[in-house]
Amino acid sequence: MAILAFFIIHWYTSLFFQSVFHHRYAAHNTFTMTKTWERLFYIGCFITQGSSYISAYTYGLMHRLHHAHTDKPEDPHSPHNEPNPFAMMWLTRNSYFNIYIGKKVVEEKYKKNLPDWKAFDKIAHSGFARLFWIGIYVFIYALLVTAWWQWILLPVTITMGSFQGVIVNWWAHKFGYENFAMANTSKNILPIDLVFWGEAYHNNHHKHPTKPNNASKWFEWDMGFQAMRLLHLCRIIKIR
Ligand SMILES: [Zn+2]
Ligand SMILES: [Zn+2]
Repeated sequence: MAILAFFIIHWYTSLFFQSVFHHRYAAHNTFTMTKTWERLFYIGCFITQGSSYISAYTYGLMHRLHHAHTDKPEDPHSPHNEPNPFAMMWLTRNSYFNIYIGKKVVEEKYKKNLPDWKAFDKIAHSGFARLFWIGIYVFIYALLVTAWWQWILLPVTITMGSFQGVIVNWWAHKFGYENFAMANTSKNILPIDLVFWGEAYHNNHHKHPTKPNNASKWFEWDMGFQAMRLLHLCRIIKIR
């Protein structure tokens, strides 16, 4: 089933950029890299996230607000403010857009060390670019689908970045296990995470937000951190 292979490749590549570039680099500054590499990561985001492209600057800002106000009314995405995951996805989209267009003013203290490439964001974020990618996806589906029900995956493909974000942010503040007693509801959602690039260890992450490795117990394994180690060895990034 070729469409499933496409879906899986899209899932892993898109989430790699969200976990490593948006979350660990933009929001938490767990590693550094040159401006050239930073720009190549931007282009990687555009290719892998396509119609659900997220601005690294806006993501970083919104995510810092999540850590500062976890589970409180100011949290941009909390299942405790909005228990329905689809409604939460819509609210997150609105928080994100309000920050992106400057309608929501964020305090200066959250803006330190955020990557910012406005000219690129302007193109990648445009309605035209999103429609272009949707056209590409429809074309790929038309080529690869072998049964009508496989089209069900298309809406997920189109909204991939937001879909992945909401899964982690909803699930990881609802169900799972805790290694650390916290004043918030963060949970680790899978003991062995082979699907979320290590983002499943959300309780560990809330305990140590700037630690590059999200794994904490002996059985936990952070695929995103292993990828970072490889990039570090290749001198593409420098882990702090
Ligand atoms: Zn969280
Ligand atoms: Zn974080």
